[in-house]
Amino acid sequence: MSDEEAEEEYLFKIVIIGDSAVGKSNLLSRYSRNEFNAHSKATIGVEFQTQSVEIDGKEVKAQIWDTAGQERFRAVTSAYYRGAFGALLVYDISRRATFDNVARWLDELNLARMLVGNKCDLEDSREVSLGEGKRLAESEGLFFIETSALDSTNVETAFEMVIREIYNNVSRKVL
Ligand code: GDP
Repeated sequence: MSDEEAEEEYLFKIVIIGDSAVGKSNLLSRYSRNEFNAHSKATIGVEFQTQSVEIDGKEVKAQIWDTAGQERFRAVTSAYYRGAFGALLVYDISRRATFDNVARWLDELNLARMLVGNKCDLEDSREVSLGEGKRLAESEGLFFIETSALDSTNVETAFEMVIREIYNNVSRKVL
């Protein structure tokens, strides 16, 4: 690798959206700090974490934003979405209403790439089947994955798939 290549750096902004209490904050804390909080309160203020991923030998940084408890439709301010390259759109597999609202979240933004069915550890109280999630993702042209912030299932994969996709498509060079 030449010196020039070694200095290349990529930075993408990613937002996490979806209904309240689907597990957005916990997915981010699991991914960035390997932490899970069973009694997490609504995020106060704006929160983001920067994570580095190595893709094709290059360091790709993702600035991942949490909604800061502003999950009502239209209440998420335009500043939250501004400059975002991609999104994780999360629902809770054990709460049907959060899945039914996915379409409304999609109306809010046209950059969603990844549909995330969280809490897949709650198999006993599952209300949304894996097939339903897959079909919705297919019809909307999204990637799809089921995750659990609780037991770490697929959390890293969910974030890294969207980071990789952005890198492959609409990368913004910052250096
Ligand atoms: P947010 O409002 O979407 O940011 O949701 P939070 O991250 O605050 O999580 C809401 C609640 O769901 C909390 O009580 C979490 O402990 C719980 N939770 C989050 N992710 C999971 C998961 O993967 N499995 C289970 N069983 N509970 C989860």
